[in-house]
Amino acid sequence: MRDLSRLEALATAADVDVQFDAKLSSCTTYRIGGEADALVTVHSYQMLNHVIRALMDIEMPWVVLGKGSNVLASDDGYRGCVIRLGREFSRMQVEGSLITAGAAVPLAKLVNETLTQRLSGLESCAGIPGTVGGAVSMDAGSRHEWIGRSVHDVVTYRPGVGMQRYERHQIEWGYRWCSIPGDEIILEATFELKPSTREAIANEMNRRMARRRATQPIGKPCCGSVFRNPPDRSVGALIEDCGLKGYAVGGASVSTVHANFVVNNGNATAIDVVQVMNHVHDEVKERYGIDLTPEVKFLGFEG
Ligand SMILES: Cc1cc2nc3c(=O)[nH]c(=O)nc-3n(C[C@H](O)[C@H](O)[C@H](O)COP(=O)(O)OP(=O)(O)OC[C@H]3O[C@@H](n4cnc5c(N)ncnc54)[C@H](O)[C@@H]3O)c2cc1C
Repeated sequence: MRDLSRLEALATAADVDVQFDAKLSSCTTYRIGGEADALVTVHSYQMLNHVIRALMDIEMPWVVLGKGSNVLASDDGYRGCVIRLGREFSRMQVEGSLITAGAAVPLAKLVNETLTQRLSGLESCAGIPGTVGGAVSMDAGSRHEWIGRSVHDVVTYRPGVGMQRYERHQIEWGYRWCSIPGDEIILEATFELKPSTREAIANEMNRRMARRRATQPIGKPCCGSVFRNPPDRSVGALIEDCGLKGYAVGGASVSTVHANFVVNNGNATAIDVVQVMNHVHDEVKERYGIDLTPEVKFLGFEG
């Protein structure tokens, strides 16, 4: 058993909320998952530093989550600490065509701010759930546009070291990936945008939102796309061509609206989702020889 007294001691401090045996189903858009040993929401940089040092001392694994909109959490939960960023990381600041947003700012709020400021560049993020931290970490976007293109710089916390600042040219951006080290916590990002008209920005955002409404399941818990698109192929089309729309295991099924979404029909377990994904993977492999790679991040499945 791990000695959690260091975390218990922090629980009484200001600027932090600590919860033990926290339901991961409440931390993810899938609404699936057992309990994490601890869920810690830090509201200041100083407290983040304290918490990480305490976790390093007791050798407790940790993971940072935003809205958990790209995560499937295990039914057995996570033997570690989930960290969420709070108040100090929820601010936004505008300076000319630069917008700086804390990692905990909802992506939708940042996107709305670009409209208010008449700044173009993040229209492709309209309708993507999650936080700025999660979006930068995942290089969120559409197939041909992604958030990294508009990043000016990113500030992170490197555990045990301190703050790091990465200028745009120091970061590589890939398909749902960026080169910021996986153990660093994104604290804020600055976006360099282009002045435009409110009408042009709104039109583009509305177009993308309408497309989402027409092509994605609405109202069913999910994590968006479960697999990455193979080069030059649409994974949704491959899965649909295999006749897998509606394929179900327990409470999870391939969406009948978008074949790359596996939805929770209300009582899905993580194992249901994994079994649907395994079947889809195997069918696509058999028919097309393509080895699909998950886009969703798995939490608590190790070991
Ligand atoms: C209905 C629906 C539609 C979606 N559509 C799209 C889409 O069109 N395009 C797209 O790209 N994605 C899409 N997604 C997936 C998801 O919304 C994005 O990946 C989003 O950017 C994840 O943000 P989050 O804050 O929820 O991150 P989380 O899901 O909480 O975390 C995702 C990853 O980022 C890491 N992370 C989170 N915050 C930080 C931080 N501060 N520092 C370091 N690492 C961090 C986590 O550890 C994890 O590895 C969709 C999801 C849903 C549910």
